[in-house]
Formats: sequence, structure tokens, C-alpha cells
Amino acid sequence: MEPINRRNFMKSVAGTAALAALEGGAARAADTGLVFLSTWAHGKPANERAAEIFKGGGSLLDAIEKGINVPESDPAVTSVGYGGLPNAEGVVELDAAIMDGTRHRAGSVCNLHMIKNPISVARLVMEKTRHTTLAGEGAFRFALKMGFEPQTLLTPESLRKWEEWKVNPKHETFWLDAEHHDTIGMVANDGKGHVLSGCSTSGLAFKIPGRVGDSPLVGCGVYADDNVGAASATGDGDVMTNYCTSVSIIHAMARGASPQEACLELLRHMVKTDPKNREAQVGVVAINTQGEIGAACINSRARLKYALWRNGESQLLDSVMLI
Ligand code: ASP
Repeated sequence: MEPINRRNFMKSVAGTAALAALEGGAARAADTGLVFLSTWAHGKPANERAAEIFKGGGSLLDAIEKGINVPESDPAVTSVGYGGLPNAEGVVELDAAIMDGTRHRAGSVCNLHMIKNPISVARLVMEKTRHTTLAGEGAFRFALKMGFEPQTLLTPESLRKWEEWKVNPKHETFWLDAEHHDTIGMVANDGKGHVLSGCSTSGLAFKIPGRVGDSPLVGCGVYADDNVGAASATGDGDVMTNYCTSVSIIHAMARGASPQEACLELLRHMVKTDPKNREAQVGVVAINTQGEIGAACINSRARLKYALWRNGESQLLDSVMLI
């Protein structure tokens, strides 16, 4: 995406010096260094792994993929990959997407069964095919062809939770239950202005089979553009998909907003267009080419914690809440 009126905006607002600074974004990013920014507490070990991969000579794409593999492979994380809570029929259905800001190219998978690392399959969709998204049985067969090993993704714990849900006469209330969320969304800047976005989830717990959330949809769960930055999202995908969350944030950043302002602008827009969204669980993260970051959520029902890796320091922080 070409930044919207970037030249005009910068000329009118801050003059030639600021324009030169923006156009030298890649050079400035080199000073700010490598940054990984992820959603939720499981983003912290994911960031740490990503940084290790990058510093060991891997590409930013390798780093994001291997970083996201950490919560995907961790049975204790019940919202991503192996151990993720299943759909209403007790089947784990995974969604993931990855987008490279240089090539302006994404790969994604939806409703993938029996493969614990959907982000790795999404990467191969991007790298080995001319498609962007593969779903269901086709995504599964593609993964097998790429050498992935099928396995059961239910753990004793996730099976127990599904069985409890099934026998609970009030189980229809699961739709908005906070504990059933927590996608890993990760954005990164390599310190030279190259950005990437990745996202992986088991989606809404006990969802209707076949449901696709925001996470694997390009522009919703992920968006990355080396001219501007990268964004990702977590929360109620059935709400967020309608706002094309990640690309909306990137558009605001292209118009001159900082990542933090851009995140809040999107959340304000969501509440303005539908006041019911005040109660929605929505969290977003963004980074620009200079390495500045943003992280925000709509309300305390799902206070987004975000993990930040920068200058060798790994932290877990509270995002800004919309007032
Ligand atoms: N956004 C994901 C979905 O709706 C869930 C989450 O972020 O926790 O599938």
C-alpha cells in the first residue's frame, strides 16, 4: 500500500525536514534496533525465541515463524495450536496467517486440523504457492505434502474442558467468555525498517465448526507494509473482522498517526459505529518502520497485555485502554 498523502501530509504538517526524516525511515530504524511485539503473556517466550533465531542469523520471517511456534507447541496455552480448545464437536480447528512487508505478500490457513504449527503451514502457502489462503481439508492435505506430521491436538486438559462445556446446560454462553480467547499476534521490525506480522490461534473455543475468525484473514489478523509498519489483533474475531482491524491501523499510520494513535483511532471508530462494541473484547498491536509501537484494548474485560522485546530486554506490559 502506498502511504496515503504521505508527502502532502508531511509537507503541510512538519515541513521538509520531517519528510526527509520519514523517507530516511529505514536509516533511523537501524538505530532503534530489532523489535518484537506480541499479544498476551505467551508472547514473551515467543518474542524471546524470535530474537534468538534472528540474532543467530535467521531472517525476520524465520524469527516470527519460530517465535509463534513456541505457544503453538505448548500444551499449556489453550488458545493456540496443540492444546488449543476445540470447536463444538470437540475438533481442534486452527487458523494462522503471516505477512511479509517487503513483498507485500501473505500466506494463511483456516480450519486446519491435526497440524500443531499452522503458522509454518501459512508461511509455506506464501512461499510455495500462488495462493494466499488454504482452508480445511485442502490446507491439511497441503500440510501433509509439505512434510508436516499429523497428530491429535487435543490434550487431556482441553478434552476435559470440552466435555465439561458439552454437559453444561448453559453452555451457549461460551460465545463471549474471555478465558476462551488469546491469539498470539506478533509484529516485528528488523531494525532496518523491514516489518512482518504473524498470527496463530485455535479461535473461539467451542465455536461452530467451520467458523473462521479474524486471525487468518489478511488485513484483519495480520497486515505488514515496509512503507508504513505492521499490525496484528486479538479478541472477538466475529466483531473485528467487520473492521478489517490490521489494515485500518496501517492506513491510519500511513496518514501520519503514530502506532499508538492508530490503534486507538481504530478502537474509537469501532465504538462510534456500534456502541455495543464498548463491551467487545478487542486488542491490537502495531509497529512502524521506525520501531515505534502501539498496543491498545477497548475495555477491562479483556485488558490486553503485550510482550515487548527490544534491546535485549523482554517485558510484559499493560496496553493502553480506550477511555
Ligand atoms: N481473534 C481470535 C478469533 O476470534 C480469538 C482471539 O484472539 O483470542 O478467532
